Amino acid sequence: MEFLEAQKKHDELVKLIERYAKEYYIDDNPSVSDQVYDQKMEELEALEKEWPELITRNSPTQRIIGTVLKGFNKITHQVQMLSLADVFNEEELVDWVKKVDIELEDQTEFVAEMKIDGLAMSLVYQDGNLVYAATRGDGTTGEDVTTNVLTIRDIPTRIPLMGRVEVRGEIYMPKKSLEELNEEREKTGEPLFANARNAAAGSIRNLDSNVARSRKLDGWWYYFTNAQDFGIKTHYESILRLKEMGFKTNPEARIVKGTKEILSYVNEYTEKRDSLPYDIDGIVLKVNDFSKYDTLGYTAKTPKWAVAYKFPPKEVKTKLLDIIYTVGRTGKITPNAVLEPVRVAGSLVQRATLHNEDFVKEKNLMIGDTVILRKAGDIIPEVVRAIPEERDGTEKPFEMIENCPVCGSKLEKVDAMHFCKNLNCPSRNIESLIHFASKDAMDIETMGEKVTQEFFDLGIIRTIPDIYEIYKHRDRIITMDGWSNKSVDKLLDAIETSKKNSLERLLFGLGIKEVGNKMAKTLARRFNTLDNLMHTSYEDLIKINDIGEVVANLIVEYFSNEHNIEIINRLKEANVNTIYLGSNKFDESNPFFNKKVVLTGSLVEFTRDKATKILEDLGAHVVGSVSKATDFVLCGSDPGSKYDKAQKLGIKIINEEEFKNMIGGE
Ligand code: NAD
Repeated sequence: MEFLEAQKKHDELVKLIERYAKEYYIDDNPSVSDQVYDQKMEELEALEKEWPELITRNSPTQRIIGTVLKGFNKITHQVQMLSLADVFNEEELVDWVKKVDIELEDQTEFVAEMKIDGLAMSLVYQDGNLVYAATRGDGTTGEDVTTNVLTIRDIPTRIPLMGRVEVRGEIYMPKKSLEELNEEREKTGEPLFANARNAAAGSIRNLDSNVARSRKLDGWWYYFTNAQDFGIKTHYESILRLKEMGFKTNPEARIVKGTKEILSYVNEYTEKRDSLPYDIDGIVLKVNDFSKYDTLGYTAKTPKWAVAYKFPPKEVKTKLLDIIYTVGRTGKITPNAVLEPVRVAGSLVQRATLHNEDFVKEKNLMIGDTVILRKAGDIIPEVVRAIPEERDGTEKPFEMIENCPVCGSKLEKVDAMHFCKNLNCPSRNIESLIHFASKDAMDIETMGEKVTQEFFDLGIIRTIPDIYEIYKHRDRIITMDGWSNKSVDKLLDAIETSKKNSLERLLFGLGIKEVGNKMAKTLARRFNTLDNLMHTSYEDLIKINDIGEVVANLIVEYFSNEHNIEIINRLKEANVNTIYLGSNKFDESNPFFNKKVVLTGSLVEFTRDKATKILEDLGAHVVGSVSKATDFVLCGSDPGSKYDKAQKLGIKIINEEEFKNMIGGE
């Protein structure tokens, strides 16, 4: 992405996030789900990571969005009310814990707590009396909502502690209260609250305190901000102290240590979540020892001693933008949903298989529909159903294609499936692509079978030279499930590096029939350049040891096929090396040149691999068994049956000393 393009994208994202944030924090009436919001934030963070020059103090990644509603007095927080850094899956959580452990040079003790889905609140007491209750606002300035908060019965107005005391927590609406409230509103025809968080926030931030009074709100108090002023050393101790003073503290908080214990807490509450009488949207981990807080520090927006693990949504809503088709190795055609990217069960999803025509028709999916998406077995994204109520008439009906999207040939239907029966359909090239990138061929690290298949299915690569144009699809790949800037860069680097491979790798990678690894090497060394090999004749080829008539024919055939010549030309245009880079020319006068050599027994000064390499560098063919055609047997101590056979056949046997002399005393 160019800078100007990134800047444009940045502006768009900031505007969108600010709109969502206003609807959520200021109007208490969000138009999109938390997942959509979180995902846009993640996109913005990723963009700013790539283009740090786009970061300003005003970016939503750097500040807490919020404002004071007209009619409420402003309160300046003595200690900023920050947000929490998020993690969206167990892996990210473990990484975060490890980072803290490294920073604190110890296995850290944490307090794990419920992440209450409500409205953050600060209560300030002076010499035992409640002075005010304030919302978070923009983190520095909040709204004075004391009158409304006082309608909540269980909030202590007096506490047995002198001096200034600040206690923070979350005002929430119990699930039961929300149900009753929505039942009431349904009867009176008022719009229903989408969730308990908005209901609680809307009640507290209402100028008419009768509203709050009627809403059956409650609070959990999870932070004694200035506990250290009272000699309290740990967060857990401070919660116990809050409880003693009459604050409702959440009973699920627990001290945890080590990733095993932390993940088991996370799993426990992922299970229990639905049975709790209040909504939680995750787990909060906080370092227990207050004395470590300054060591870890703060960002402009979050403390570094705490993190929020957000539960992955089980089912989410998104848009079915299009249906595209992929052709499998067997020619099977699969319709795939192109979705508006959405985070589900911890990862970003924008494609889901729709299996076959019948599947799409049974679900009555239309392009443009709002659909429910879930992850089957938490791994494979699955379109559960459409929401026909949300159609606005712009949706288009689905019609199965009749021709192969790759080669255009007429599809054949077998049961519920459609197949492309054209054996030359380029979609079948997938095998050759996988081979080309494999370890023994061009060795393109990270471009394994899965990635190759994925890119192939998406039409990013169809033939071998397309691999060298993957960079053109960088922007698209980055947005794909499982890809990041880093992993794409790694892949592109590996592709770039492969251009420098010596000719034998390329020859093997091209997949010429009967040209295996070893044969590719022989050819590369013999001909030195791909051009030489392409222009060589059948007669020249069969003169070479190891090359029989069949192979010679196949090679000549391969290089006279127009399609193959085009592939080679495109590879050359992409600057893929076509020259042999080993010790270029054989010294044909050396005694091992073009000779078949067998190794047996153990050598003292050479490993077998080393001796083999030396021989091959001299143009010898190291073979496994002794036959009449063998020229030399290099024999170490304790030789096996190869020695006997060589003797029987009268083949020249050399020992290590002789070998050394023959190779020039190296
Ligand atoms: P956050 O909700 O991710 O985390 C910080 C907040 O968690 C704190 O301010 C506090 O109120 C709360 N919290 C609950 N339990 C806690 C505990 N035990 N300890 C400490 N804090 C606890 O961050 P945020 O900045 O308040 O809000 C961002 C989130 O709000 C987003 O991730 C998104 O889920 C939601 N949001 C949604 C929209 C939307 O349009 N749907 C818009 C803006 C924000």
